Amino acid sequence: TSPESTEEPSTSHCQPIGETGNSQHKEGVPSLLTMDAELESEAPPTYESIGYDAGTISANGIANRNENSEPIFHVRSRTAASLAGVPQQEQTQYESLDYDVCENKLFQDEQLSRLRDRFSLRTHIIRWIIFILIGIITAVIACTIDIVIEELSELKYNFLKSSVDDNVTVNESGGDLALPYLWWLLLSAVPVAIGAGMVTYIEPITAGSGIPQVKSYLNGVKIPRIVRVKTLAVKSIGVITSVVGGLAGGKEGPMIHAGAVVAAGISQGKSTTFVKDFHVFKAFRDDHEKRDFVLGGAAAGVSAAFGAPIGGMLFSLEEAASFWNQNLIWRTLIASIISSFTLNIVLSAYHGVSGLTFTGLFNLGKFDHPLTFEYFELPLFMLLGVMGGLMGAAWNFLNTQINKFRSRFVPWRAGKVCEAVLVAILGVTLACAMIYYINDCRPLGNDPTIHPVQLFCEDNEYNAVAALWFQTPEATVRALFHDPPGSHKILTLAVFTIVYYLLSCSTFGLNVSLGVFIPTALVGAAWGRLVAMLLFYMFPETQFLHPGKYALIGAAANLGGVLRMTISLSVILMETTGVETSFFFPLIIALISAKWVGDYFNDGIYDTVIEVNHVPMLPWEPLPQYKGLTAQAILSKPVVCIKLRDRAHYIYEVLHKCNHNGFPVVDDVEGDRRSEGRVCGIILRSQLIVILLRSLYVENQRFWQQETTIQTFRDVYPRYPSIQSVKPLDRKFNYTVDLSMFMNPSPVRVNTYDSVPRIFNIFRALGLRHLLVINNENRIEGIITRRDFIYK
Ligand code: ATP
Ligand code: MG
Repeated sequence: TSPESTEEPSTSHCQPIGETGNSQHKEGVPSLLTMDAELESEAPPTYESIGYDAGTISANGIANRNENSEPIFHVRSRTAASLAGVPQQEQTQYESLDYDVCENKLFQDEQLSRLRDRFSLRTHIIRWIIFILIGIITAVIACTIDIVIEELSELKYNFLKSSVDDNVTVNESGGDLALPYLWWLLLSAVPVAIGAGMVTYIEPITAGSGIPQVKSYLNGVKIPRIVRVKTLAVKSIGVITSVVGGLAGGKEGPMIHAGAVVAAGISQGKSTTFVKDFHVFKAFRDDHEKRDFVLGGAAAGVSAAFGAPIGGMLFSLEEAASFWNQNLIWRTLIASIISSFTLNIVLSAYHGVSGLTFTGLFNLGKFDHPLTFEYFELPLFMLLGVMGGLMGAAWNFLNTQINKFRSRFVPWRAGKVCEAVLVAILGVTLACAMIYYINDCRPLGNDPTIHPVQLFCEDNEYNAVAALWFQTPEATVRALFHDPPGSHKILTLAVFTIVYYLLSCSTFGLNVSLGVFIPTALVGAAWGRLVAMLLFYMFPETQFLHPGKYALIGAAANLGGVLRMTISLSVILMETTGVETSFFFPLIIALISAKWVGDYFNDGIYDTVIEVNHVPMLPWEPLPQYKGLTAQAILSKPVVCIKLRDRAHYIYEVLHKCNHNGFPVVDDVEGDRRSEGRVCGIILRSQLIVILLRSLYVENQRFWQQETTIQTFRDVYPRYPSIQSVKPLDRKFNYTVDLSMFMNPSPVRVNTYDSVPRIFNIFRALGLRHLLVINNENRIEGIITRRDFIYK
């Protein structure tokens, strides 16, 4: 047997107090403390560690309830708490990813050989190259989506405008809007139907923005089919069709998802969809590496969507990532900077901005004059934030209700496509009604759009309502930020805000690929501008009421209220509009007040989506109901274990009979009472299947020992074969498997008396998938997985 079998528990190096002679740790004894102080003055300075662990454990091992450490808002807690009653089959629909690297014998051998042949440096360089590639390719995809959307929308809206101009003239006593309305319906319903059809029938996982899915993936939940090439293709076409179709949504969320797929694809050097292995980047085929790349991809996606490199990195930090270290920040930043640089080059070339100077693009338009503010405006910004929080919370609530209604009453696929088309038709109808009934004519010359529509206005005037509707939502946000004062009537903006608020609320959750960022910003910009106009109406002599400034603050407040992000949103808004750093303060005031107010009522929209889908996301903090409990309360037992040297037949049977993904490896077992054995490692289901498939038995060891490396296991990553693909063992029935080479010999173990918040922190910080609970003799007592922290 292997040397591990006689090993004592890993805690053996801990010595009882009093035996070490180290008195520094006996806290709470005054005489010793004073002695410490004296010693300090004489001894040379040394560095000690500062504890980061907040929990205090009393003598019997039960955590003291520390009321002060409770978060003020149980935001995420509330999310996960409601998962407690989730039915069993839904609990097991998602599997987990491993962030913890399995450092088995094969892995260590590889590490040693790398050290010898300087392979390690090469791996580092390749990793950097991959991050750069992720940035470039994500940006190219984003540009393509961008350009196609822009071209098609231009065609569509120009056609509609000319149709309006042909059919409606003032001189002919009004004319009628019927024909343009029908055209508009057709040009909206057809693309939306195509997009919704693709999403529904080809790849349903592409519905929605994609950010909640990427977020769950980075938290460690394996969302099926989330990072496949097919998903990317459907998502890209889906987002183009729905934006061109005029749905109230934006392309940003899908672009972030696209970045994640690109990252997952490139970094693996193979495509399972096309059954093609390029035999490159083989060292990165595991969950840990892949998750890091996906994080870079998400950042590159944000950065390409907005042209905001720092915003992209901060977005991944704030919203997506569950694990961070300095290297990762660096690589993510590089991916996102490269991405926005590539985007700028391609789009500048496309827009014909040539020359040797590089100016960059401001996706939401650059403010010509520096935005200034007076001190007395700060409370006003805060009020706008509060309003944004209220409106955002209401939006989230309404949207969730609509989606619950949807999933109950529209379960059929054809119904989902029809529903998307209906919402598109509703949007067009409301827009048409607005254009028809609201008479908002503005003198030409003031006009921000290239092709103004005259409609029922006089000859030298254009229709301001039509100007709002006859363009993509992104262009409308730009217009609301930058249109000169007096471009709209108060009534126009008020009705527009209400209509768009309700439209975007009913759009998010349809079976189409669309994000919420732009519609949310649009609603915010509209009511922000409206507030400025109302104030100006009441106090006409004031100077500070720049409508663009208030539109920006309104957008920030509304975004904060719906998405509940603060840092990244403010940086993204700054980077896309080019406002100065001094304006950071008002933005942050609006965002934070919106977030706090919103958090009081419910979760951000992404967390809500995650909750509605019952995804087992690990929150940042342990759930309140677990505080004060010990491991005993949540562990599962009896545990299905495997002996260090076990019969092939037993393993085969276990894999067939139970669907767990990890099995503790034990030795010192009496007979077949494995669940009382001493823990010496953990082995994953996927590894066991590879062992059986490749017949890695003790009896035929001399045939495979040479060529079996960690690569043997990586080659089948990420789609491991199922146990059904293993042929019945027949004559190998009595063969033996020795797991000492394959198992992870250092699984994380905790004691039955450890407190749940403490083990939660260990579990989350290390990104574990299985945590073994042992007693003082290192015998297995139970097992804890992600599910046990959420559903029990
Ligand atoms: P995952 O699905 O997260 O990839 P898994 O399939 O191994 O990992 P879960 O699906 O989370 O584990 O397990 C469901 C329940 O089964 C949990 O309550 C867990 O504690 C328990 N469980 C997991 N592994 C074992 C095991 N080897 N023996 C007994 N119970 C287990
Ligand atoms: Mg499972």
